[in-house]
Amino acid sequence: MLLKGKKIAIFNIANKRSLAWAIAKSMDAEGAELILGYQSERTKGNVESLLDELSKEPLALISCDVTSDANLVDVTKRIQLIGNIDGLVHSLAFAPRECLEQPFVETDRDDFWTALNISAYSLIALTRAVRPLLNSEASIMALSYYGAEKVIPNYNVMGVAKSALEASVRYLAYDLGPDKIRVNAISAGPVNTLAARGVSGFVSMLDLHSERAPLRRNIEAEEVGDTAVFFASRLSSGITGEILYVDTGYNIMGM
Ligand code: NAD
Repeated sequence: MLLKGKKIAIFNIANKRSLAWAIAKSMDAEGAELILGYQSERTKGNVESLLDELSKEPLALISCDVTSDANLVDVTKRIQLIGNIDGLVHSLAFAPRECLEQPFVETDRDDFWTALNISAYSLIALTRAVRPLLNSEASIMALSYYGAEKVIPNYNVMGVAKSALEASVRYLAYDLGPDKIRVNAISAGPVNTLAARGVSGFVSMLDLHSERAPLRRNIEAEEVGDTAVFFASRLSSGITGEILYVDTGYNIMGM
């Protein structure tokens, strides 16, 4: 029960394959009380249909579209009704589909902005939205991918967005450190989710990853969930601004 008595907000769950859902299940199993986010009415029903799998009702289900400042004000108000929280999980990203298919050089200005806005700036915006409600020693975490630092064909503008996200993790860790708030990222190996399937050639990425990774397999979403428990718990109390790989070791390989 590493998270007993901790209240944690997780944004956003799309369906049962979402890494955010795997994180919710791991945190629930460790005793956390959860606030769960969904993007739109379209995904709200999916989230509601999963709740039976948790040991207890979430404290709230909150609609969160990070492109809307008004929506983020609502997020703050909804959490305020519950009280202070001990953790924030940012598990959301988006890039227009054509950006993940065509050559990177073709990325247009609006699409670049959309990807960076939703996938990177949103961590800053969400952190600011919940900051007044964070207990001392709260933990914030985001989900990243190796395409932030190395070229992964077709990952394209999402790689640029993940680089910005990882840099934002470090700058936020510096800003919030004096308040004893930690900010980290989990760099997950490929998992078959809705967002991942938007990347052209994703299935061959899974095959390549399992062939080349030292553990000779892909990760399970639960392994991301368990690492999120570690980041939310006192076990990681000395760690901030860190990018931790949960990728069966793929990132250590030179060839
Ligand atoms: P997913 O499709 O289940 O989750 C993506 C989430 O982003 C959805 O809940 C969606 O509603 C949300 N989202 C998109 N636009 C939004 C907006 N404007 N406002 C609010 N929410 C919005 O896919 P996932 O793979 O679980 O993705 C979760 C995180 O994990 C993302 O940051 C993704 O980049 C990261 N990640 C995924 C993998 C992988 O292989 N699946 C690997 C490394 C990192």
